[in-house]
Amino acid sequence: MSVTDLTGLTAAQAVAAIARGETDATELFEAYRAAALADELNAYLWVPDGAPDSPPPAGAPLAGVPLAVKDLFCTQGVPSQAGSKIIEGYRPPYTATVVAKLAEAGAPLLGKTNQDEFAMGSSNENSAYGPVLNPWDRARVPGGSSGGSAAAVAAGSAPWALGTDTGGSIRQPAALCGIVGLKPTYGAVSRYGMIAFASSLDQAGPLTRDVADAALLLRHMVGHDTRDCTSVGFPGEIATPSAERLDGIRLGVPEELTGDGIEPGVLDAFHATLELAEQLGATIETCRLPHAPHALAAYYVLAPAEASSNLARYDGVRYGRRAGDGGDLPEMYTRTRSEGFGVEVKRRIMLGTYSLSSGYYDAYYGSAQRVRTKIAEDFRTAFDNFDFVVTPTAPTVAFELGSKVDDPMAMYVNDYCTVPMSLAGTPAISIPNGLSEGLPTAFQIAGPAFSENRILDAAHALESAIGFDASGGRLSRGGMPSTSSGRGAGGPAEL
Ligand code: GLN
Repeated sequence: MSVTDLTGLTAAQAVAAIARGETDATELFEAYRAAALADELNAYLWVPDGAPDSPPPAGAPLAGVPLAVKDLFCTQGVPSQAGSKIIEGYRPPYTATVVAKLAEAGAPLLGKTNQDEFAMGSSNENSAYGPVLNPWDRARVPGGSSGGSAAAVAAGSAPWALGTDTGGSIRQPAALCGIVGLKPTYGAVSRYGMIAFASSLDQAGPLTRDVADAALLLRHMVGHDTRDCTSVGFPGEIATPSAERLDGIRLGVPEELTGDGIEPGVLDAFHATLELAEQLGATIETCRLPHAPHALAAYYVLAPAEASSNLARYDGVRYGRRAGDGGDLPEMYTRTRSEGFGVEVKRRIMLGTYSLSSGYYDAYYGSAQRVRTKIAEDFRTAFDNFDFVVTPTAPTVAFELGSKVDDPMAMYVNDYCTVPMSLAGTPAISIPNGLSEGLPTAFQIAGPAFSENRILDAAHALESAIGFDASGGRLSRGGMPSTSSGRGAGGPAEL
């Protein structure tokens, strides 16, 4: 098969092509390695020197289809920097459970992908290694924080990728890049070996070209892990989605997340998808998530609070770099952290330390925890009457690089539709559902805890009906200008 034919396959198709003997694991790996090396989007922070020495074990279900992995997953002997300068060049002595499980299933490491520093961000502009460009339009962001993973899959330089989602970091970049992204139920997937941001929210998940690939990757990710004390595992197996209809499915449309603040083009696409869902047999009704409008405020207290605790370990002594000699211990701490952390990380550490400090703990952290409980209750009540809650994934299409970096509040609003599910711990998928101004829009389907199989089935039925054309993202591969949106390749002069 030609290289373009090979990298044009979905992961599931590539597994089948290998099984038929049309290609083999090494040829496929080399085709993708060449594409990753030719990447012009700054999506990769590390690509290996060659294909793995040994082929995947005979009968391995993923047959050698390579996997791009977000930088924050620890990978033995391979740089794992979480997009931060403070652990630049860190090569862990062990591999994250999810990455190890996928390698065992036959998905070798294709590369480490760029991300917002410690997964804090919605645009990938907070990476210490420069922003990632959106393959649909290089003047725009790919979303974040798993922006490198999303851009790589959308551009076709990776068949699929791993991301993490704390408040939307799989779903929102998937949305902005026109691919599929799934955040599993909290606890379904091990967090062992993921460099932590906010431990009660962080969850690994797939970024893929289609829904079938998301199911295939997730099948080999879930499971209980004794090394992660919040790991639960998954009841049963993740199945291959096959539904073509939505008969009897009740969709709830929360008025709190589908009105003000959502761009008109995104709302139009959302309503068009609801109509399609109805034609496929679903019933659609308004539902209420009364506390959802407070989700962002609660999240931006809770996530920074956990981050301030998790990031205390980067002090120049225990982990990471140490600022040059001279001065006493407090000075060394101060210089190390001043030089090593970026602006957004410092902002979050200060916010989190403040809200956890005595005298403010109950007013901020305690209140935010109570809001989180209310939001989880809202979802439970909604799921008494509905199979799924559906919303647009992101309020806007991909925005221009630099347009929100100086306005943290404008940046945080990107997470408006994704943070509620994160606080509730429930699973949600984002699928592309159209274009607005030539850029992808997306549809989010959230269900009760451990309803991944039903979510994937519903997403599969809708995906077939929508028939999204992903070619606008792929055109950018190999240095070809992004022309699909008519915007040209006018990205920033340098990364
Ligand atoms: N954009 C959100 C934040 O900055 C979510 C990030 C994430 O899910 N990792 O916190």
